[in-house]
Amino acid sequence: MATPCRVKLYAAGEEEAERGRKAAYAEIAAVDAAMNDWNPESEISRLSARAGQGEVAVSEPLFTVLLASRHAAALSGGAFDVTVGPVVGLWRRSRKGGMLPDPAELRAALDLVGFARLHLDSGRRSARLERAGMKLDLGGIAKGYACDRALAALASMGITRALVDTGGGYALGDPPPDAPGWRIKLADTSRIIVLSRCGVATSGDWERFVEINGVRYSHIVDPKTGLGLTNRALVTVVAPDGMAADALSTAVSVLGSSDGIALAERLPGTEAWIRWREGDRFRTARSSGFEALLAQD
Ligand code: AMP
Ligand code: MG
Repeated sequence: MATPCRVKLYAAGEEEAERGRKAAYAEIAAVDAAMNDWNPESEISRLSARAGQGEVAVSEPLFTVLLASRHAAALSGGAFDVTVGPVVGLWRRSRKGGMLPDPAELRAALDLVGFARLHLDSGRRSARLERAGMKLDLGGIAKGYACDRALAALASMGITRALVDTGGGYALGDPPPDAPGWRIKLADTSRIIVLSRCGVATSGDWERFVEINGVRYSHIVDPKTGLGLTNRALVTVVAPDGMAADALSTAVSVLGSSDGIALAERLPGTEAWIRWREGDRFRTARSSGFEALLAQD
């Protein structure tokens, strides 16, 4: 996934800790091998390669993530959409070349985007991409899922006091001994939130973006326009699990502060914090339960 991963855990001894570490990293590696679209051999790449050619049987993990992706798309009114692959591809090229995507190419790519064109059949556990040229991109959700898988593997070994971090996305188990929760620093701020038994994820363009004619375009694109976000949003979402937090942090980035915070307010166990640029100043907004998560010391 091209991000540094980290596992923190409390075990009875060194041997158990080492077994836990190995199991957690094996889960992360398995998710990466299946869902990384940079790898042409991954299951997701093979599925995209069959776009327009009928249904394809998919593994249980991939099907789980596709279902969650569809759910996130529906919740966010299409702000989160894993069918953005063709558009993301154009922006990856822009990032290399320092030029905006060609408008005609962008229109053609946008024509292939839309989660309604991704058909999932739960009974047959299959997926079908309606049109040739469609391409799935799980970059906004798979890291959170990998965290959940690693945390679940640890729990199945009896290691429940654990934190899994896949770079921007976390899954948190029971708190460390003698602590109310895990302390997570909000990216680019000095504030700390204290959490356990949930997921948390941060999205933002502080690392991956392209600047063209003085405008900074994020690696997150608005599926409605095909354009990289320019609102300089930094979003942190807390949700019941890592996968939900990951998808929602990307969704809230696209939705912006008012619709994004409203979405978090509607969802149980979900809080959001957003900082964005308006003119030349930064503004912040948060959902009603966010304040209570901040460390008191
Ligand atoms: P994140 O860092 O979790 O916000 O994910 C950002 C990544 O998700 C990007 O690098 C793309 O691979 C992918 N992506 C970009 N825009 C969207 C979108 N609107 N919906 C879903 N995934 C997206
Ligand atoms: Mg995300």
